[in-house]
Amino acid sequence: MSTASVSLDLDNLWAYLKTHGDPEWERRPSFLRTAVPRLLEVFGEHSLTTTVFVVGADVERDDGAEAVAAITAAGHEVANHSYGHEPWLHRYSRAALEVELMRAEEAIAAAGAPRPTGFRGPGYSVTRELLEVLAERGYHYDASTLPTWIGPLARAYHNRTAPTGGDRDLFGGFARVRAPNAAYRWRVGSGLVELPVTTMPLLRVPIHGSYLLQLHQLSPRLARAYFTGAVGLCRARGVQPSLLLHPTDVLGAAEAPGMAFFPGMAVPGARKVEFLGWVLDTLRRHFDVVGTGEHVRRLAGNLPGRDTGLLARCG
Ligand SMILES: [Zn+2]
Repeated sequence: MSTASVSLDLDNLWAYLKTHGDPEWERRPSFLRTAVPRLLEVFGEHSLTTTVFVVGADVERDDGAEAVAAITAAGHEVANHSYGHEPWLHRYSRAALEVELMRAEEAIAAAGAPRPTGFRGPGYSVTRELLEVLAERGYHYDASTLPTWIGPLARAYHNRTAPTGGDRDLFGGFARVRAPNAAYRWRVGSGLVELPVTTMPLLRVPIHGSYLLQLHQLSPRLARAYFTGAVGLCRARGVQPSLLLHPTDVLGAAEAPGMAFFPGMAVPGARKVEFLGWVLDTLRRHFDVVGTGEHVRRLAGNLPGRDTGLLARCG
C-alpha cells in the first residue's frame, strides 16, 4: 500500500487574530487546552501517528508545553513551525532565521520532545537562506510549500495584514503552480527533502482540512465528493498525499472567540470531528498513513532533485 501523511499545524487563537489584524491577539488567547485533547482523541480513534508542527512562543507557555508532552506521549512527531509564527518569515535575514529556529527548538526540547527534524514555515514560502539554515541545523525536511494557484484564497485563511510594502510575495513567492505536488530534494546543503502540502492533482486546488470544512459549510455532500475525488486523483496520478490539518478543524465558533470571520467556523465542533473522522478513514482505506517525518524517511532514497535557483525572487 502506498504511503500518505497527515500533519497538524498547531496554530493558536492569538496567531489567527494577529494575522486578521485583531488587537485582541496581544493578550495571547489560546485554545490549545480544548483543541489538543480533542485532536489526539480523533487520531487515537483512527490509530493514526501524525506530525504536529508547533509554534515556539506557545511551547514556552504552560498550555503549549503540556500539549507537546501529550503529543509526544501519544507517539506523534513534534516538528518546528517557527518561534513567532510570522507569515513574512521569508523576509528575515539569515541571522534572524537562525534565532527563530533556535528559540523554537529550545522550547520543544524543554517541553521534553526530541529535537525537531522537520520545519514548516507559517507563510507557505521558502527561500534559499531558509533551506540553507535548515540544512545546517540538521533538519531532514521542509514542508512549507503549497503548490496551488489560489494565492488570494490561501491568504484569506491566514493573512489579512502584512508589513508595508505589500504582500505580493506571501504564499509562495515563486510560480507555485509549477512547483511540484510531490516530494523532491533541494540541491542545497546536505540535500534537504521538500514534502509539499498536497493539492488536488491536475487542478491544483487545496484539499487541506480548512478548505474541506469551508465546502462542508456549503454542503456536506459536496465536501465528501470533493475529497473522494481528490483521493481518486492522487491514486490515479501516483501522488502520495500529505494532508494538512489545523486546530480549527475540530473547534466550533464558541471555542474560538473572535474567529467568526474564518472559513468553516459555522460548522459545530462535533460535526467537524465527525467529518474529520470520515476524511481520515477515507485516506486510510487507500493509503498507509504516517506522519511527515516517516513519510520523508520512506521516500528518501528515491527523490528527484530541484535547484534553488528558482527561489531567486524571494531569496
Ligand atoms: Zn501556521
